[in-house]
Amino acid sequence: MAHVNECKGCNQTVMVPEEAIEKMVDSIPQDQVNRVNEPTYEKRIRACYHCSSLLYKTTCKHCGCLVKYKAKFADKECPHPQGSRW
Ligand code: SF4
Repeated sequence: MAHVNECKGCNQTVMVPEEAIEKMVDSIPQDQVNRVNEPTYEKRIRACYHCSSLLYKTTCKHCGCLVKYKAKFADKECPHPQGSRW
């Protein structure tokens, strides 16, 4: 089955390799004030992986954010239109 592009402004060329995402996440200082703890992060990522709004297994279709990066920050929240999932 062909991939259906749900995002109006993007296409598969915006796919970000897992290694690049890991590098971005690793670049966040461990002592970053608004960084969430590991259990909270894992809970957020699990919610994203079970969400139909996750595109390319990396990107939220509502905000365009790389969820593995965004979920690290306590002051960020899930933008799901039917209510935040984290
Ligand atoms: S809507 Fe929320 S849970 Fe779903 S992919 Fe986006 S950030 Fe993750």
